[in-house]
Amino acid sequence: MATTKPPAPPPARTYTAVLTQSRRITPPASREEVRHLVLRTDDLSFDATAGNCIRVMAPGQLGNPWHTRIYSIMDIERRNDATEFAICVRRCSYIDDFNGEEYKGVASNYLCDLRPDDTLRFAGPVGYPFVIPEDKSADILMLGMGTGIAPFRTLIRQIYEKIGGWKGRVRLFYGARSPLEMLYMNDENSDLANYFDQPTFKAFQAVSPRPALDAPVELDKALEQNAAEVWDMINRPNTRVFVAGAGNMLDTMDKAMVAVAGSGRNWNSAHAALVSSGRWSEVLY
Ligand SMILES: Cc1cc2nc3c(=O)[nH]c(=O)nc-3n(C[C@H](O)[C@H](O)[C@H](O)COP(=O)(O)OP(=O)(O)OC[C@H]3O[C@@H](n4cnc5c(N)ncnc54)[C@H](O)[C@@H]3O)c2cc1C
Repeated sequence: MATTKPPAPPPARTYTAVLTQSRRITPPASREEVRHLVLRTDDLSFDATAGNCIRVMAPGQLGNPWHTRIYSIMDIERRNDATEFAICVRRCSYIDDFNGEEYKGVASNYLCDLRPDDTLRFAGPVGYPFVIPEDKSADILMLGMGTGIAPFRTLIRQIYEKIGGWKGRVRLFYGARSPLEMLYMNDENSDLANYFDQPTFKAFQAVSPRPALDAPVELDKALEQNAAEVWDMINRPNTRVFVAGAGNMLDTMDKAMVAVAGSGRNWNSAHAALVSSGRWSEVLY
């Protein structure tokens, strides 16, 4: 007899949202489909801040009522009658090692196939990893890949549009397979270019040297080319470091940081100091 896992307990608080907009933000020539989805919930008890995520409840499979997956919240705006926010979703598919067949990721395909006026359920907010420091002279180092840009885009917009007068250095090191997949920095959508003339902001882009062969994105090179500034930032007592994206970026980043620090020992102690003082936050998946 076929057995199925018991469904996970339902999350404590769930909400309904209406999709008001779904826009592809990777150019048609890119093999990656990433969409910017705008959602509106009329349930005013939903409250979230930059860095929070929602747990999307996609219809489940194999007897499970829900297939829940987490997505970073962007652009949250609370009005009198509703709260609007955005998420950015990469349509995922996987090749089964055993039979070579391609399977669609459940939640990401569900989200990418939603059309305006469709409703979805979600729980949250979950997580609160990226807190902008109160001290405007603090340096902020953001290291990310792929859809990991979502919380950074929110932080950058908050720092320059809502807070203003930021004096610390804000540095974004962002990796994507090719220039087409530089999210919010490509021909289809270039929101982040609005901040390139901010004197305290710099973005460093890293791509794969051979995207067709899936060669690794050279985020390590971008960090090493800016080693002096990165190391200086890391050693300042009020710097925050935020890391977001696919979990496999951690190895590449770790090796690059050893080079930036001059030795594994230097990096381990700098990293430990950031972690123990609560100045290192990561969202990896
Ligand atoms: C804190 C956090 C924040 C996140 N933020 C974002 C975000 O902002 N944007 C975003 O796009 N994603 C984000 N993610 C990732 C997201 O939550 C999902 O994991 C992702 O969208 C894939 O979910 P899915 O349901 O489509 O795939 P799933 O169906 O859950 O598949 C996921 C995994 O299962 C395996 N798998 C699935 N089906 C098969 C199969 N048939 N054969 C073999 N292997 C299989 C794959 O290897 C894959 O690793 C975040 C994750 C976390 C933890």
